Amino acid sequence: MTTNKVLDGAVLAVRRDMEATGVPGRLGFDSPEWDDLGYLRVEYKGQYSSYGLRADEAHEPVATLVLIADLAQEVIAEQEGRIWPTCPAHSFGLHPERVRGAALWTCKAAGGHTVAAIGTLADGS
Ligand SMILES: [Zn+2]
Repeated sequence: MTTNKVLDGAVLAVRRDMEATGVPGRLGFDSPEWDDLGYLRVEYKGQYSSYGLRADEAHEPVATLVLIADLAQEVIAEQEGRIWPTCPAHSFGLHPERVRGAALWTCKAAGGHTVAAIGTLADGS
């Protein structure tokens, strides 16, 4: 883990969602050897996210949670060849979004709806 509580909290929340929905493997969060600037990146099965964050900067919690969820979605899609997570009602891929100050997984089907707060996905998603 890092020295930044906001970043650690976001990674732990997304890990909970992965565990709850049966994604195999663990989400990593560290700086790859090839990154000379030391940006922390989300990692899944050796695949690092294209975007990185610095531990020594201040991060807004909701925006950070949405971003970490988005990056996790990116690396999981690349490694697993599927969209994660999906809506239990419609099977559409969910979108991490900031809605009225909350970090949510939303589905665009049926006019759009909220599935869960990021970090609280249930089995079956
Ligand atoms: Zn849906």
